[in-house]
Order: sequence, then C-alpha cells, then structure tokens
Amino acid sequence: MRTLLIYPEFPKTFWSYEKILELINRKVLLPPLGLVTVAALLPQSWEMKLVDRNVREVTAADWDWAELVVISGMIVQKADMAEQIARAKARGLPVAVGGPFASSTPDAPELELADFKVLDEGEITLPLFVEALERGDTSGRFTANGEKPDVTSTPVPRFDLLELDAYSEMSVQFSRGCPFNCEFCDIIVLYGRKPRTKTPEQLVAELQCLYELGWRRSVFLVDDNFIGNKRNVKLLLPALRQWQIEHGYPFSFATEASVDLAADQELMDQMVECRFESVFLGIETPDAASLETARKLQNTRSSLEESVEKITASGLRVMAGFIVGFDGEQRGAGNRIVEFVTRTGIPHAMMGMLQALPNTAMWTRLEQEGRLIQDSAAAKGVNQTNLLNFVPTRPIRDIASEYMEAFAALYEPHAYIERVYHYFLKLPPQRYRQIRQENSPSVQTSSSERGISWIDLRALAIVVWRQGIRRSTRWRFWRALLGMALHNPARFTGFVSILAHNEHFLEYRGIVRREIEEQLALLPPEPPETARVTAEPVLVPN
Ligand code: SF4
Repeated sequence: MRTLLIYPEFPKTFWSYEKILELINRKVLLPPLGLVTVAALLPQSWEMKLVDRNVREVTAADWDWAELVVISGMIVQKADMAEQIARAKARGLPVAVGGPFASSTPDAPELELADFKVLDEGEITLPLFVEALERGDTSGRFTANGEKPDVTSTPVPRFDLLELDAYSEMSVQFSRGCPFNCEFCDIIVLYGRKPRTKTPEQLVAELQCLYELGWRRSVFLVDDNFIGNKRNVKLLLPALRQWQIEHGYPFSFATEASVDLAADQELMDQMVECRFESVFLGIETPDAASLETARKLQNTRSSLEESVEKITASGLRVMAGFIVGFDGEQRGAGNRIVEFVTRTGIPHAMMGMLQALPNTAMWTRLEQEGRLIQDSAAAKGVNQTNLLNFVPTRPIRDIASEYMEAFAALYEPHAYIERVYHYFLKLPPQRYRQIRQENSPSVQTSSSERGISWIDLRALAIVVWRQGIRRSTRWRFWRALLGMALHNPARFTGFVSILAHNEHFLEYRGIVRREIEEQLALLPPEPPETARVTAEPVLVPN
C-alpha cells in the first residue's frame, strides 16, 4: 500500500520562530513525531512517504503516487487539515485521520470528508484500521474505548521518513500522561493521569537511530510532564548519561516538567549530567487564587520564585508558560506576570489567554454554565493571540489589553536583553563538559561545539548588525556581550543564541497587538456590570 502521510500546516504562533529559523537556515522547529510513530506502527511492508506541509507542498507527483492518505494534527492545524482532506478526496483517494484534534472532536466539520477516523492512541487503533482495510472496508471509526496502551512495545519512530535538515530540533517521547489534574488540560483527557513510560532501552534505541541517521543537534522530549513518573525517569537517566558519554554527548536535551522538579535535587542533577539544557514549566500565573481555581495545586505548594531559582541554579534554563483570564482573576494579572518574569529573569515566557479545550473538565463546566463561545476566533484554532473562547468573569477587553501590554513589556527589546543577561549570569557552567572530559578526553566535541559554520557566522552577523549597530539597543547589547564574556564565558554561546530570539519577539509583539485588536473590534459592546458572570466558579467534579 503506497501511503502518503501528511502533516498539516501550522499558523504563525509564539513557537513558530520564523525569524530564528530563517537565521539558522531551518524551516521548522520540530518534526511531526506522532506521524513518524504512526508510520512505525503501520505494516512495514507498506511503502510510505511523509510530507510535512510546514516544510514543503504536497506535489502532484505525491498525489499521483499515493493509494492511501493518512493525516494527523492538532486543533491549531485544523484549517489545513480540512484542506488536505478535501484535496485527497478530490483525487478519489481514501483518507484516514487521527491525532489529538480528531481524537478530541471526531465529529468536527473539518473531518467530515475523511473515510477513516483512527482515534486515540495508535498502538490500539491502528491495528484495527489495518484489519478493516484488509477486509475491504471503505470507512470506519476506531476508538480505544478508554483503554490506554502500554508503550513499552511501541516501535522506534520512522525518523528516516523526515527531511532532517529542515528541522531545528528533533523530538522523542518517553512518557504519556500526567498525574496532576489541571482543569484546563487536555493531556490528562487524551493520555490519562497514570503516566506510562517507555523503557530506557527503547529511548536509547531511538537516540541511536537518530545518531545513525546523522542527527547531531538538540532533542526535545515532548512529554507533557517528563517527571510525571519520577521512578521511571530515574531509571532512564543513568542509561541516557551512559549513552551520551559513550557517544561524546552528541545531543542536548530540552523537555517540559511540572514545577515540583525543583523539589528533587537528585533528579535535576541527573538531568544536567545527561545534558538537559532547558526545561519548560507551566507556571501559568503567580496568583495563588487563580492556580487554585484552575486546580493547579502543585504550583501552590512552594514558592514559584524559589522553584525557578533552584532549577536555574542546577544548570537548567527555565522557559515558562503563563495564562491570563482565569475565573475570579483580579485586575492587574498581566502586570503581575511581568513582575514575576522580571524578578526571576526567565528569558522565554510564553503567554496566552485561557482557552477551554474540548472534553476538558473546564470545557464541561463552562458548557454547563452556558459560557462557551463556540463561534469565537479560538474555535477556529487555539493560538496565543486568540481571545478567550468563553465568557470570562471580568471584562474581556480588560483581559485582552492586559495581555497585550504584558507581552509588549516582556519583549521590549532593551528589557529582553537586560533580563537574559542577568539570567545567564546565574547559570552555572555545563556539568556535562567536565564529565565528558573525565570519561573520554580524546572524544570529539559535538558538531554544535566543534566550530562555527558559515550559517552561524551569518546569523551572528545579522544579530550584531540589527541589535548591536542599527537599533537603539546597541549600547545595552555590547555591554551585555562584554559582561557575559568576562563574568560567565562558559555560557557565552548560549547567551548569544537566546539574544538572537529578540528578532522573533520583536516581530511577534506586532502580531499579538494587531491580531487581538482585530478580534476586539468585532466584539459586541461589553454587558453592564450586573449582567456579568459571577466571580465564583462552579466546579464540576471529574
Ligand atoms: S501539570 Fe501540565 S500536563 Fe499535567 S495536568 Fe497540569 S497542565 Fe496538564
């Protein structure tokens, strides 16, 4: 069976980093890990081709070659998903859809033309789909009926189907699911609250495969909470460390974790020794009342500021996500986030307005309260510039304007340089370098450290020209560069690469303001104070 796997296009988001990718000559940040996993789960006797629409178009030759089309994507990709389904159907090809968007909303109008809906986790439903095809079925819907597969037999993803040069980072997955219970989270709906992990051997085999394919850059562990199953993570990390030592530490790692990482020094040390360089934390807000409303209780158990400090002092660069628009939120939430980020110095703080995702506890509650706005811009695809897709407990214009102001303040180019500078001064030297030196003094450094390529030189020249010469940031830029070279030279390269992100944020600041103002202009007038929703949310037990 000649199978064409298509990954739909993403709209521009905070994470799309076009300006940075342009600088480093890459097309996309991360590859479609779900789709290459699907490819590994399908019969290996099938011929397969993968087109990531964020990398290239599907050509006429691709369509002519295909006998079956498989499309998978997230809610944010649904517009392009619908378009690709329609294009395949116009050529008379059978289409199967799956992935997070199809699994959470299988009856969405965007998926109407698809013949097969292969929902939930592929380890269970893909074999059912293959059986159906073999029987000669021409349509079907396959669900896991609440069952969560053991991922210890999931095969190594078909990384060979990817155009590796197009990606800035590669992705692998160790675990699925998270033990926490945040009200807005769809991860626990899709993957459950009992984190299931692969074995250390499986993950090492995936890294080995990437290594043999020639990959030598960063690897992102896409787990929504890498430390959800701490026991198994602590079994993985020694194996990962050993593999890195034996191969001269070819990969740096990044991942997402819950804030309670800060309470486990042993775990942070193990991660740093494996060459984990950054970790994304869902901080959401420094407002304790909002965290309680969102049931993000793990973030209220100790000081968030101290947690960020501890993780940073261990050698992991913190990235963090923040949200405005929680029920009962007090005026000034955006500003309190800016103050928190400024105090902690977190270089990359992603912000968004709260969105209710289908089938989450929050969605159910808001539906019962009659507060969902189904035809909102957000219903067309969740993005950082979408207004809330429900009626909030305070004026939506206040939330949106606080959000715009906060984003503009966080990424004001002078403030950004200052924040990144002070943050990088606090990062200790990378521990893995010492371990590598002790274990294999003769081993070659990884390609990212070996020397400066012409692409790096070109990127550096552009950044220096823009931030150090052309713009008003020039004095701050040169002072910061000199300060870093003098006071923390071990972190100089990383510092410059994070400074380069200013190019993206500068552009994205304008996008945020423009897109939000456009949506606000379409809103009906704010209802009078008395007609607004009560600030007391009614929580629905799940
Ligand atoms: S900690 Fe993160 S992944 Fe876990 S439930 Fe909360 S939002 Fe979801």
